[in-house]
Amino acid sequence: MSKPLSDHDKRKQISVRGLAGVENVSDLKTNFNRHLHFTLVKDRNVATRRDYYFALAHTVRDHLIGRWLRTQQSYYEKDPKRVYYISLEFYMGRTLQNTMVNLALENACDEATYQLGLDMEELEDMEEDAGLGNGGLGRLAACFLDSMASLGLAAYGYGIRYEFGIFNQKISNGWQMEEADDWLRFGNPWEKARPEYMRPVHFYGRTEHHPDGVKWVDTQVVLALPYDTPVPGYRNNVVNTMRLWSAKAPCEFNLKDFNVGGYIQAVLDRNLAENISRVLYPNDNFFEGKELRLKQEYFVVSATLQDIMRRFKASKFGTREIVRTDFSALPDKVAIQLNDTHPALAIPELMRVLVDEEKLSWEKAWDITVRTCAYTNHTVLPEALERWPIDLFQTLLPRHLEIIYEINRRHIERVASLYPGDFDRLRRMSLIEEGGVKRVNMAHLCIVGSHAVNGVAQIHSDILKATVFKDFYEMDPHKFQNKTNGITPRRWLVMCNPGLAEVIAEKIGEDFIRDLSQLRKLHNFVNDDAFIHSIAQVKQENKLKFAVHLEEHYKVKINPNSIFDIQVKRIHEYKRQLLNCLHIITFYNRIKKDPKKQWTPRTIMIGGKAAPGYHTAKMIIRLITAIGEVVNNDPVVGDRLKVIFLENYRVTLAEKAIPAADLSEQISTAGTEASGTGNMKFMLNGALTIGTMDGANVEMAEEAGEDNLFIFGMRVEDVEAMDRKGYNASEYYNRIPELKQAIDQIAGGFFSPKQPDLFSGIVNMLMHHDRFKVFADYEDYIACQEKANALYKKPKEWTKKVIYNIAASGKFSSDRTIAQYAREIWGVEPSLEKIPAPDDPK
Ligand SMILES: *Cc1c(COP(=O)(O)O)cnc(C)c1O
Repeated sequence: MSKPLSDHDKRKQISVRGLAGVENVSDLKTNFNRHLHFTLVKDRNVATRRDYYFALAHTVRDHLIGRWLRTQQSYYEKDPKRVYYISLEFYMGRTLQNTMVNLALENACDEATYQLGLDMEELEDMEEDAGLGNGGLGRLAACFLDSMASLGLAAYGYGIRYEFGIFNQKISNGWQMEEADDWLRFGNPWEKARPEYMRPVHFYGRTEHHPDGVKWVDTQVVLALPYDTPVPGYRNNVVNTMRLWSAKAPCEFNLKDFNVGGYIQAVLDRNLAENISRVLYPNDNFFEGKELRLKQEYFVVSATLQDIMRRFKASKFGTREIVRTDFSALPDKVAIQLNDTHPALAIPELMRVLVDEEKLSWEKAWDITVRTCAYTNHTVLPEALERWPIDLFQTLLPRHLEIIYEINRRHIERVASLYPGDFDRLRRMSLIEEGGVKRVNMAHLCIVGSHAVNGVAQIHSDILKATVFKDFYEMDPHKFQNKTNGITPRRWLVMCNPGLAEVIAEKIGEDFIRDLSQLRKLHNFVNDDAFIHSIAQVKQENKLKFAVHLEEHYKVKINPNSIFDIQVKRIHEYKRQLLNCLHIITFYNRIKKDPKKQWTPRTIMIGGKAAPGYHTAKMIIRLITAIGEVVNNDPVVGDRLKVIFLENYRVTLAEKAIPAADLSEQISTAGTEASGTGNMKFMLNGALTIGTMDGANVEMAEEAGEDNLFIFGMRVEDVEAMDRKGYNASEYYNRIPELKQAIDQIAGGFFSPKQPDLFSGIVNMLMHHDRFKVFADYEDYIACQEKANALYKKPKEWTKKVIYNIAASGKFSSDRTIAQYAREIWGVEPSLEKIPAPDDPK
């Protein structure tokens, strides 16, 4: 009998992981040892696992350098139109494996570390996540960087190098606890500080109006220190740059001010300036009007625009070095994409630079600004829309407030001339909101100051035109576009699920990794029994691997033959983790009522972080853990139902959980989830979706056929009709006995016997002021879960639907999304061409 393959041997057989040539391997070993010795200053007697990770990281990083320098040099020489993606979040996760995948080094590194007596996966697990994002919006920015490099665009990601990213979530006695994410503690081998490109950013002060223009004076200066991270494309030798700014107090900070308490105090006060890049605000889809956050937003915008202008001015024209002074060419050479309104200040800042510093006329500057900028909207939830109080602006950015007033004056003049006498429209469309505190509506500023405005899924873009931005759409219909989100198939398939990638590659080759639409070819194999078997087998292996991880972590016995039912995403009322809870309780009650029946076993996993200040979200986590305590310890239930709260959901945990999922929960109230991208990751990794007709679920159903998803619940039209009629939760509560039972149990302390009224707030919300209409979708959701159970009993039928889904998931590659942004917004052409490879380190 042959020995079962070790993990290492199994990984080695997978061709999508790149080739492990003998020379390659021996060079890698040499360089690994060199870095351990010279870079880490360790030998193998004292080296820790973390040292080995760093040695490997540096070894792999060496292969980026030549490509990076060459790519940037070629941009300087060819001077293509540059794309600037400005975002307050880049949720990158880990970099080592991604770099190996994109450079085709994974198998060779695996072999090299194996020959050195090390396990590469263990080393990879030492890397900290770059958690510089909250959820979908930040992860989208990260996927876009991968796609822009893979499509050969001269693109840059610009953001903030937060010293502390999204907090680490600990669950303690069922409650969420936050821990600071000190991700830079051991150093970051992927970044390069560039102090020589430091830029001053101004705050506060006042404006002086002179005959020759406006001066912003008496400002306080904070320096922006750039850190560059390489962004390699997929096997095309392109390496772009993500530049993140870190705040640094100037040397003379507070030292000239003798009234602040002398030298020691002045040095201590440097923290005040440097706090700007200290920490990521942990809100997802929620606006918190804090001054420090507005400072962050201006900080990234000001530093980035200085970089953009410098690069625009000092480029080559043909072979000649030139200094450009004619800014009318800016829109032909620069595209700025605003990831939500967070970097909206780019619009008044560009105006300030062009008018106050470069002395252009307002009209000329405005034309350039609008043709350069484009805005992506990510949500219609009113509590998420940025509306900054005028007072804050007045003190922090007095010149920008003047500019915004002037933009608004001209905008309102135009609206008035187009709609004479329509004063309500003027009020609705103003950039300045009156009443109570005066505020700047940043979405309105972005629409007016951009040539393109896009939503992130078709249904969302339609809702923008029909509701939140209706007036703006009527006035400028040509501005409004859709760009359905996508995910990078490198991280979200090749990297996290190499087994599946390999099974696919065996049938259709490896080109689908660059061109995901080729997954369509899998239609030829939906009736191929061997293929069906391989797909099911990969899923089973992924489930077993994740089950081991869970059993180690949560000390629960997982039934690997149960449906792995997963809902991972930020905890938010609109995402309706509570609907999932009601299904769990209903399933539990049914088992208890009829314990002898052959129930289809399930392991239900829910994970996600709650914003620290979002009380209801924290209570939802507490409810999930409370349900788990009762369900998981009930001997009658056994291994037929387990409820697990996945602690500290982040990119790295997503990469482990999603490939193991059978069922993907995408159950937001129709009209509330702009797109979702988690939904796409599950689809690509062979999970079936149970979901509402919301966000990109609609397009997933369109691509795969509605019959291949478990679609339930109200459509947007139904929700709107219910809003007109009035939603009455108690109707459902009184009519549906199992719903009543579940709610009564939560309300009566069945899941919290020591604190019977622990969840009275949640129950009160569900019964009396539930904005997201959980009860209205309950019955259909439960019925749909039944359909999933029935199908799971027919494994072959289930796997066929899985294959239909994978085959239909090609649309959801961020390569497709980026190609559309490139052609329809930025005016640049994507390319799959390889640029020549440099000499790699030997
Ligand atoms: C993809 C992703 C998200 C977004 O998930 P949604 O279900 O679309 O909200 C959030 N967090 C992480 C870590 C992700 O990888």
